[in-house]
Amino acid sequence: MAVITLIEDDAGIREAVARVLTERGHAVRSASSGMAGLQDVLDDRPDVVILDLGLPDVDGREVLKMLRAVSDVPVIVATARDDDAEIVGTLDAGADDYVVKPFSADHLEARIRAVLRRHERRGGSTDGVVTVGGLRIDPGTHEATLDGTPLDLTRKEFELLLHLAANAGHVVSKRQLLADIWQQPYGGADKTVDVHLSWLRRKLGETAAEPVYLRTVRGVGVKLVDPTA
Ligand code: CA
Repeated sequence: MAVITLIEDDAGIREAVARVLTERGHAVRSASSGMAGLQDVLDDRPDVVILDLGLPDVDGREVLKMLRAVSDVPVIVATARDDDAEIVGTLDAGADDYVVKPFSADHLEARIRAVLRRHERRGGSTDGVVTVGGLRIDPGTHEATLDGTPLDLTRKEFELLLHLAANAGHVVSKRQLLADIWQQPYGGADKTVDVHLSWLRRKLGETAAEPVYLRTVRGVGVKLVDPTA
């Protein structure tokens, strides 16, 4: 059972989704506008948010940004169009997953279970700390330090660093990163990975030309190495 906030302006969809999720034992709170939904998240601290992108008052993507500024709650975006660019954009903006309308109750339920599992894994343990050379990454507190200095990373940069550090010494393909971090099992958007890698590199104080931790393996992927080893 999960406490779910459903933000959807279409009354027909809102009632149908709320009904099927309630029938499956979830506690559903629904909101018909972005601002009402945000307020609900702040007041009720749900386990999962299902967010429609086309809302009457504030664009769903803006709602997502505001939400992310105050909460780490898993968000599943419901989009009307199967548009790769829009989906990549919302995942980059901090959505955990997406469903394309019309979606089935089974499909939505599976996505809800998956984001809850990932969320629990992320925050559930304190002994999952990964250290490689001077890097220390703590998935429990979501903090990363380099030689004792805290790194100011976005959520995706943190996940990318954690994933690469957990696989230190092994090449991870961009396709694999897209699948694991952006939940994009198909290719076609490797720029997403490249852009985040270059931001991460800058924050680690290194460049592609003079790598320290992050080594690009041309045509294959990227690996994180221990430069002190
Ligand atoms: Ca809508």
